[in-house]
Formats: sequence, C-alpha cells, structure tokens
Amino acid sequence: MKNFSELNLPKQLEMALAAMKYETPTPIQALAIPKAMEGVDVIGCAQTGTGKTAAFAIPLIMSLLENPDKTALILAPTRELAAQILDVLRQLTQKLPLIRSVLLIGGEAMGPQRAALYRNPRIVAATPGRLADHLRQKNLVLSSVGFLVLDEADRMMDMGFAPQLNEIVRHIPADRQTMLFSATLPPDIMKLSNKYMKNPAKVSAGSHTKPAMKVVQTMVETTHPKKNDTLVSELEARQGSVLIFVRTKRQTDRIAKLLHTKGHRVTQIHGDRSQRQRFVALDGFKSGKYRILVATDVAARGLDVPDIAHVINYDMPQSAEDYVHRIGRTARAGKGGEALSIITPEDRGQWRMISRHIGRA
Ligand code: AMP
Repeated sequence: MKNFSELNLPKQLEMALAAMKYETPTPIQALAIPKAMEGVDVIGCAQTGTGKTAAFAIPLIMSLLENPDKTALILAPTRELAAQILDVLRQLTQKLPLIRSVLLIGGEAMGPQRAALYRNPRIVAATPGRLADHLRQKNLVLSSVGFLVLDEADRMMDMGFAPQLNEIVRHIPADRQTMLFSATLPPDIMKLSNKYMKNPAKVSAGSHTKPAMKVVQTMVETTHPKKNDTLVSELEARQGSVLIFVRTKRQTDRIAKLLHTKGHRVTQIHGDRSQRQRFVALDGFKSGKYRILVATDVAARGLDVPDIAHVINYDMPQSAEDYVHRIGRTARAGKGGEALSIITPEDRGQWRMISRHIGRA
C-alpha cells in the first residue's frame, strides 16, 4: 500500500486523516493496515515514532464500523501512552460521533470513569491495572469486545502486567481479532502471542534495534564531576526543545532544579508525580512553555511529543533497546533530530556495547 486511498476508507476517516496531515502511510502502516483489514491477527514489530498507533487504530475503527454490536479494547503500559492512543483515536473518529471512547487509567478517580462506562463507549483505552480494577468492581463486561490491541507488549511484560493481562483476556470472547505491538519479540512475547492470538501474521518495519531514521547521534566525553557543566554548556549551544534522560527519580528532581536555577524553562516527569502533575508537565512541554523536559525511561516511554529537536542522555540507558527508544523520541515520522550522549569514563563500556548493538562500531 502506497496511499491511504487504496484502502477505500469511508469519507469520514479519509477527512480525519487529511485533517491530521497523514498523507502517505509509514512503513508499519503500509504493512499492518491491509493485513489487519483482512481480519487476521497481526503482530507488529515496531517502536514508538514509527506511526504504529494509526497502524492499529485504522483497522480497529473499520472493524467497529463493520460490526455495530462490537467494541474494542486497547491496553498500553503507561497512562501517558494510553492517553495518547485515545487522543489519536478521537482525532480519527472526529467525524464519527457515534463511536464514543473512554480512557481508564490509574491516578485518577474511579467515579467519572465509571460514569463514562455507563454510556457504553465503543472504544476503551486502558492500562492493565486500572482495567482489572474496573472488572473486579463489575463496572464493565468485556463480552462484546471484538477487537483487542496489546500495545508495547514488551514493556507491559517488563512492568509485571502479565497477571492482569491474563485476568483481562479471560473475559474477552475467543472470537475476536487481536493486534499485538512490541519493539522487540523476545520469547515471553512469542509465548504471549501463542496464548492470545490465532495464526498471527507478523509484520516488521525495519530492524528493531536500528534507531528511527534521520537521528544524528553524537557523544561528548566528560568526567563525573564535570557532568553538570557539560550538560549546561551543551544546552546553551543548542536551539529547540530538549528531552533529557536520567536514571532515577531523584536525579530527575536534581537536574530539573539545577537547570531552573540556571534560568532554563524546565519541567520534569517521573513515576512518583501525580497523574495531574504529569499531564501539566507534558502539556507545558508540548506547548513550548517549557523548553526542557527531564524524564526517566519509564516515564518517557511512548510519549508522543512530535517536535523534540534534541534528546540528551545525561545518564546512559541500561540497554541498547532503551537507547533506541530514547532517541526515537526525536526525528519522529521522518523529521530530523539529534541525540547526544554524555559519556564519563565509567560509561565507556556501556557506550561501546550500545554502539555495537545499533551497528555503529
Ligand atoms: P506513533 O509511532 O504512532 O506514536 O506516531 C509517531 C508520530 O508520527 C506521531 O506524531 C504521529 O502523529 C505521526 N504520524 C503517524 N503516522 C503518520 C503519517 N502517515 N503521516 C504523517 N505523520 C504520521
């Protein structure tokens, strides 16, 4: 598929795509959408930034239009990712007002979510923990789910959501279509797909360990005591928005405070901040109120902030995959971007390992 028009989508969906300025499909969309529209289960190997949300959202909406009695459920590892997915779905269904949707995430009161469930939404986007809570309270039944999406399945497994996934999927009829997306396909994900999917077709947009296209990757060597000075001078030498990755929540606070005292417009997200604080920080960063966002890997996973100019690794990531995810925050959907890693002598081994893994050594 080279063009969305080849899919013969209903007018309302075509108009929404045009309004969102999606003109040509990304590689994962070109592969996954036609397969899923045949009605088969699909495993998509793709990282964030590749356009994977629309790759499942378009077939999902088509399935809802064709099956008026059915609903769709999307599970994602983090609250932010679930919220972003719902945001894309709401844009895609802007001309289809009968397709109502609800977001079920932790950190927010149950009451309004329960009230939204009474209005029989056709799309539920949720984190596994909160959805399992609603199921136990009998706020919803899943017997009408005909389309299931497991997004960032590898991260859901890493975060220990396997028991909740089991509990949830048990309530969904076997007669459904399932799409699973994951940046990597380790054995536990293949086991998951064997358990939850029927003869899935596998599609993959490029190698999962290769960073999204067009990211200029550089590194600067420094020493531990000079790390903060290096960061500050690198920030001053750059223009545009910056996402800084650090290892711990405490580090997030420390670096954000330091940059604030240096006069930078900076905000931060990490797992201990309330849902509201996280949304406020993210919105402020998206709107340009803050130029800099300091984050940990878990907090930043799946964030869709389309205009990040720079990613700076203040602390090195634990793995090559985390590195690829981090730098995937920039250069989204083919736009240019830069990733800088600040390397101290203690980081050299890790940097070599990552360079080898992504094929740069
Ligand atoms: P995703 O991987 O789904 O988070 O998408 C990454 C970014 O690419 C988001 O900012 C999307 O709005 C954008 N995007 C997705 N598909 C397309 C497309 N076909 N054309 C242009 N932009 C797109």
